[in-house]
Amino acid sequence: MVNHPEQTGRSSHLVTKHIFVTGGVVSSLGKGLTSASIGMLLEARGLRVKMQKLDPYINVDPGTMSPYQHGEVYVLDDGSETDLDLGHYERFTATELTRASNYTTGQIYLSVINKERRGEFLGKTVQVIPHITNEIKQVVKNLADADTDIVITEIGGTVGDIESLPFLEAIRQIPLEVGRENCMFIHLTLVPYLKAAGELKTKPTQHSVGILRQIGIQPDVLVCRTERGLDTSDREKIALFCNVPLDAVIEERDKDFSIYEVPLSLQSNRIDEIVLKRFGLQAGPADLEDWHDILHRLRNPEHEISIALVGKYAEHRDAYKSIYEALDHGGIAHRTQVRVQPIKSEDIEREGAERLLAGFDGLIVPGGFGERGIEGKVEAISFARQRRLPFLGICLGMQCAVIDVARSLAGMEGAHSTEFAKDTPFPVIALMEEQHGVVEKGGTMRLGAQPCLLVEGTKAAAAYGTDQISERHRHRYEFNPKFRARLEEAGLVIAGTSPDGTLVEIVELADHPWFVAVQFHPEFKSKPTAAHPLFAGLVAAAVERHAGSAWVTET
Ligand code: GLN
Repeated sequence: MVNHPEQTGRSSHLVTKHIFVTGGVVSSLGKGLTSASIGMLLEARGLRVKMQKLDPYINVDPGTMSPYQHGEVYVLDDGSETDLDLGHYERFTATELTRASNYTTGQIYLSVINKERRGEFLGKTVQVIPHITNEIKQVVKNLADADTDIVITEIGGTVGDIESLPFLEAIRQIPLEVGRENCMFIHLTLVPYLKAAGELKTKPTQHSVGILRQIGIQPDVLVCRTERGLDTSDREKIALFCNVPLDAVIEERDKDFSIYEVPLSLQSNRIDEIVLKRFGLQAGPADLEDWHDILHRLRNPEHEISIALVGKYAEHRDAYKSIYEALDHGGIAHRTQVRVQPIKSEDIEREGAERLLAGFDGLIVPGGFGERGIEGKVEAISFARQRRLPFLGICLGMQCAVIDVARSLAGMEGAHSTEFAKDTPFPVIALMEEQHGVVEKGGTMRLGAQPCLLVEGTKAAAAYGTDQISERHRHRYEFNPKFRARLEEAGLVIAGTSPDGTLVEIVELADHPWFVAVQFHPEFKSKPTAAHPLFAGLVAAAVERHAGSAWVTET
């Protein structure tokens, strides 16, 4: 438990502290990772942390955005569809995330406008200040409950963007209400290296801090992203011009090796100490044994495998962010370097699975929407089935596996999902009952954690080591129970269902080293310190296959 000096002093009230993380100069600086790393370090010192992201775009949530625009939609247990940075928060910390962990401009305005329609503003003119900013302040303060020592709020976007302004204005005001001593502003910025000049340039950082200060926010800490080390004179210059103490100018060098190095590098720059000192908190030393072990395992793999990821957006890594991470976690668990090769499913349609998938040790077909590339996915799965290539199908990947088995093993020519072929003679995947009549797109899928019963003797049951699980969903279509008996006769194993037995959640093939496909998204529950059993299972099967094929080529 953390010792709050103010508890022993005049007040017995434990005051929750706020850290606000902003970003400047350019986007994609890794604010999410930095916020998650700070949260992780503070938790490792025994503090109770909550995390939150405020996104300046007008969509109510990222659920309706293309993965090209926004990357993966990260789903929480409570069914909220959130920004992919929340995936970092969950992978790095133990903090519980809910609908209250991610707000967008759209959500804030929607709530204010609904209040206005209900007449709650009593005839007043509704304005950005104070009504929108009050709403923002409220969603931040909502997280500051008695069980929380520190709330970390990350502001999406880049300082200087028009759409970030209400968020920045709101966090400027929060110290006025909860006390400046209870708030800390951490600004992430870029210190680029200019080849022509042969030196690091601090001016962009000075400018972005200048913009923040115009808004009324004086950062307490600057985290400087840089490809080269900052020397003392760079740090002194930044400290002087940006009005922060020298020890609060922190270098965050680019990490070529692994994102899991970020917390350790921030710790070696004493960011946790700075936070504790700033808030007058005392806490024990950080327990980072697990984290050091992860990096040790990543640096010293005993095996190496290559996995093909066949998807519509394959070349767009952020669209499958959590899958890449979960594969790394499976690798950490089995001391294996996992090389992932994205392959566009349309390329499989053009060039054939044989040509593009030969030589891989495993296949993943992830979730997705829309018809483009579907046949390529089915073909890839068919290849994995026939060549005994370890395969994990996720959501749409599972639906494609059922289509392949129906067409190839159950004699259902033209079997399909009604998402793509309304008049297929064999609709083995069909719109869920509850989805009939749903017209609104946002937040209307089957979303969030659902219980699932595992069938004894299956690979899934063995991997999980239990008979009941809870996994996160995001889909409208589902295995059509009308074809269940016929598909089972053809060899498809139903390995997991909803507790009432109606919805098929996991399918497998028995005479295959690892052919497991799931209607849910296991990638959202994998952590570097605790690989998800299905990803660990895929990696283990791929390692075995790799060893087998190496043995074959050696003899
Ligand atoms: N498009 C499919 C459905 O809605 C699969 C969704 C997914 O893969 N997340 O059921």
